[in-house]
Amino acid sequence: MRGSDPAQKQKSPCSTKNAPVPEFVTCTQCGSEVELWTDEEETLCPSCNYRFFKREATIH
Ligand SMILES: [Zn+2]
Repeated sequence: MRGSDPAQKQKSPCSTKNAPVPEFVTCTQCGSEVELWTDEEETLCPSCNYRFFKREATIH
């Protein structure tokens, strides 16, 4: 779908309860340490360009 989707993108600018913080996880593909923010479900490994999900990774 293209265009705006206000129902899904709505975020409160004043919300600090769920402020994202970085976590270090291990890439499931090459074993490198990758920074993954807590508000992100997936990340891209800078070493091998493998995209993996937080639930797959090992959080240190
Ligand atoms: Zn990797």
